[in-house]
Amino acid sequence: MTARIIDGKTIAAELRGRVADAAHRLARDRSLVPGLAVVLVGSNPASEVYVGSKTKATIGSGMRSFDHRLPETTSEAELLKLIGRLNADPVVHGILVQLPLPAHIDAQKILYAIDPAKDVDGFHPINAGHLWAGLPALAPCTPLGCIILAKTVYPSLAGLEAVVIGRSNIVGKPLIQLLLAENATVTVSHSKTEHLPAVCRRGDLVFAAVGRAEMVRRDWIKPDAVVIDVGINRVTGPDGKSRIVGDVAFKEVSEVAGAITPVPGGVGPMTIACLLANTVRAACALNGLPAPQFDTPVQ
Ligand code: NAD
Repeated sequence: MTARIIDGKTIAAELRGRVADAAHRLARDRSLVPGLAVVLVGSNPASEVYVGSKTKATIGSGMRSFDHRLPETTSEAELLKLIGRLNADPVVHGILVQLPLPAHIDAQKILYAIDPAKDVDGFHPINAGHLWAGLPALAPCTPLGCIILAKTVYPSLAGLEAVVIGRSNIVGKPLIQLLLAENATVTVSHSKTEHLPAVCRRGDLVFAAVGRAEMVRRDWIKPDAVVIDVGINRVTGPDGKSRIVGDVAFKEVSEVAGAITPVPGGVGPMTIACLLANTVRAACALNGLPAPQFDTPVQ
């Protein structure tokens, strides 16, 4: 058996199209142009690439992008002042502070300072708490993308056994909440979990968010399971060339899974698309408008 490939690039492009339509309608009918402020401190090359892609995607979706590129020497107080200004600015509906921040800045303090209503990354404890309590929240983008990808295979996740590997605040934990909201039966595993392969084999859905190259092997996967690979790992092949692989041994797992996301081209493209969706959601909520639905059609 060969697994169906869940094409994250195409699904993300479709989602971006729906987000752009929603942004267009808001501009036309309500004179409301959703705006995303992205703050980058310092010159981390990977962060510069991410911020560049986010800016391009935001403008490409008909929204406003406000780039704030600050020098490495920016103080915590200066950054807090900028966050305060963005919180108060009515044309800014989403605020994203690119991580990592320089060591002299307390990232937690900065993230806490963002208005939860503009926290489009979904990292503020108010949003994390709302998500946990099943209340309306801005949820983190990568787990949101994972759910959309899984639902292209199973439009309803109700009653399915979902195994999440990894319990980070930005992927594993919010994914548990989103899966519970979809009425899946959720098992979360982590670095201290015993008999991980056997735990994984319970999953109709397996989400790998660990950061260990090709850790999940063929015999960890129940035949026909849906495998969503969040991992991004750079490895060097025998030819000395470096490439990106996921947390799942793609080739061998594809022989047993029912559907699988590739790396790259799976979860990655969904993260930015979900960021844009969150910006539109935030713009609507801040203006007392109902949140648009961005359901993805089944592939
Ligand atoms: P993290 O380091 O914060 O968390 C990793 C988790 O994996 C921890 O909860 C840990 O308990 C668990 N873990 C570690 N070793 C394990 C083991 N041997 N067995 C089982 N569990 C183990 O990482 P993160 O921020 O959650 O990111 C995870 C991966 O996802 C990374 O590769 C990261 O680059 C990638 N990522 C991708 C995107 C995207 O947009 N595609 C976004 C965020 C993170």
